[in-house]
Amino acid sequence: MSRFADIVLPLAQPAYTFAVGEGLAVRIGDAVAVQFGKSAVYTGIVWRLHDTPPAKGVAKPILKVLYDKPLLSELQMRFWEWIADYYMCSVGEVMRVALPSVIKAKAHCEEEFEPYTPKRERAVRLLSEGCSEESLEKIKRRAPKRYGLLQTIVGAGGEIARSALDVDATTLNALCKAGMIEFFERDYVRDSGVTRALLPTLSEAQQRALEALRSGLEVKNVALLHGVTSSGKTEIYTHLIDDALSNGKDVLFLVPEISLTAQLVERLQHLFGEGVTAYHSKLTPQRRTKIFTDMLSGEGGNFIVGARSALFLPYRNLGLVIVDEEHDSSYKQSEPNPRYNGRDAAVMLAAIYGAKSVLGSATPSLESFANHLSGKYAYAHLTERYGGVEMPVITISDTIRNVKRNERKGHFNKELVDAISERLESNEQVILFQNRRGYSPYMECPECGWSPRCPHCNVNLTAHQRSGKMVCHYCGYGEPMRKHCPNGHAGELRPMGFGTERVEEAISELFPEARVLRLDGDTATSSSAYNRIIGAFARHEADILVGTQIVSKGLDFAGVTLIGILNGDNLLTASDFRAEERAWQLIMQVAGRSGRRERRGEVIIQTAEPTHPIYATIDNYEMMAHKLLAERQRFGYPPYVRIIKVVMRSPKSELLVEGSMALGDTLRSRFGRRVLGPVTPLVDRVRGEYRVELMLKIEVSASYAKARAILGEAVASLRRQPKYRSLTIICDVDIL
Ligand code: ADP
Ligand code: ZN
Repeated sequence: MSRFADIVLPLAQPAYTFAVGEGLAVRIGDAVAVQFGKSAVYTGIVWRLHDTPPAKGVAKPILKVLYDKPLLSELQMRFWEWIADYYMCSVGEVMRVALPSVIKAKAHCEEEFEPYTPKRERAVRLLSEGCSEESLEKIKRRAPKRYGLLQTIVGAGGEIARSALDVDATTLNALCKAGMIEFFERDYVRDSGVTRALLPTLSEAQQRALEALRSGLEVKNVALLHGVTSSGKTEIYTHLIDDALSNGKDVLFLVPEISLTAQLVERLQHLFGEGVTAYHSKLTPQRRTKIFTDMLSGEGGNFIVGARSALFLPYRNLGLVIVDEEHDSSYKQSEPNPRYNGRDAAVMLAAIYGAKSVLGSATPSLESFANHLSGKYAYAHLTERYGGVEMPVITISDTIRNVKRNERKGHFNKELVDAISERLESNEQVILFQNRRGYSPYMECPECGWSPRCPHCNVNLTAHQRSGKMVCHYCGYGEPMRKHCPNGHAGELRPMGFGTERVEEAISELFPEARVLRLDGDTATSSSAYNRIIGAFARHEADILVGTQIVSKGLDFAGVTLIGILNGDNLLTASDFRAEERAWQLIMQVAGRSGRRERRGEVIIQTAEPTHPIYATIDNYEMMAHKLLAERQRFGYPPYVRIIKVVMRSPKSELLVEGSMALGDTLRSRFGRRVLGPVTPLVDRVRGEYRVELMLKIEVSASYAKARAILGEAVASLRRQPKYRSLTIICDVDIL
């Protein structure tokens, strides 16, 4: 019997040693309750059992073991450790993102501490008395959504868990009132399993790609599916998924953003039944916990569709991980720790389980493409859209020439205006893309040039007309819109630049008869708001959709034949080394939303710099990729080097400068010219804290693990100096 246990707590701390009381059976991976600090009681995970008492003090005892079986398997523990080690954080910080909050209970004292116990669940059942044929007919005609809901309940055998229904309370209450359903409590029932699918028949090109993936994955662990937008990548995945599920394996299908899960789950449920489970951080803690504990007590064979937090579910028998839209930068968690890349972690997770991974994209990241070129990844290429639909034509529209000829109307070049009115006449739909939300990115006094700025951040406030506010996009600070500058000048502040809100206004003025919708961070504030907007646009209840990045992601609208990119230059001005790759991927992704059915789509890009080299080869993936890779190699950027960014923050700017210089010196003594900085970033103050950055560039031939260890030690030794203790220091490994 070991007498001590090292226990991981959900904190940015190392594991702590606790005593294993006489007669307490504790296993590695067990969740336990322990007292930590003065009086708090936490859920912790037993990481190691041993007989070495702590160097200092007396180990407190473990209070109790929480579940009848370990919460984590050995493989999951290895995965957590890999994340902590690779992304330079504590295992406790991984625990924070990995477990649903209900499981990682915390309390002020032992009496208050309540671990999760599987509860009875609220369920809904059909009332046959209330569901006469007549009333069903009526509801089918008047409220198709409610009718669909009733069918779901019928499909589940007449009763279904409330949590399994993705509907609002109002809808359910209405059906309740109508006497068609009722709520009741029952012992919780496992989700019905995944059924065998009736898979779509693949086209010849798709079949070839599928064969290439299958045979590639026999010899390699990772495959890249490079298929142009609308080539039917999802259909190809379904065959791989079916292979894995029919062998009793678990399947994880990752998407970059939560908003994309709902549509995808629905699409996949048609093929695989109700057992397709969505998992992401926006589900209620209860729902997440149920999924987690279901899997814990289950035998495998789960099909999970989710965002990156789904990587931490207790898979029994993981066989396949799909990472869709693998180029998407939303896979990286930017805050807080662990700052991990969901795509890369997915590949690692699959490797730990001995599973296969498939990365898919129309515009693969340069990293993944390079892994194909080097032969590390298997590769399948789909160059045509499904159903013989042609790729859209891309037109570059010269803004300066439009201005000179006096042909520009507000923010729109003549080519774009003409194309829009033509589409409207033939009852087709248009998407206008602008990568800024709000009305105007900043306001300016016409006389003195004064602009309203955020008091906490070194940035301009963005004007939001509908809410009548000026808002900071960094910290969320807002104040009422002001008309005049504080210097007493008479002229009103002028809105400068265009955000989506102003584009929406301008396009409505230009085409008063057109119905316009807007999709951005201000209108898609929840997934139901998001679904409402895209649903309305998909049903052609609007002609024009104005939006930010969100519109580039995975949407499939049959009626869209024209995309306008209002300011290509904006996309290229970002200061980091990925600006061109990002702009190009974004343009190709937005373009992919157009002409997905019969009529060939068109994309018009407005730019003041039509001769920019990006436009010459923009729709030739191979040429662009090779060109950009050559540049990355020449100037020493990923994938030829790896970059760790060290961000230092403090409200005290002098202390920050001093501390960052000290860290820079230490690092330079070990890494020489691989260290860049300290430099002040473009936005050097956020939320009242100053920021300074250092970069560490490690060539791929060197040991990354060793470099991280040296960096970690340098940071730790700086923190040990009392005067620098107040500095926040963050290591961002593999910056995006
Ligand atoms: P991608 O993910 O590559 O952009 P999708 O998988 O969304 O492409 O496919 C684009 C459209 O073509 C979808 O509406 C899809 O249903 C349809 N489609 C693709 N392949 C097939 C197929 N083999 N059979 C029927 N429909 C298909
Ligand atoms: Zn701010």
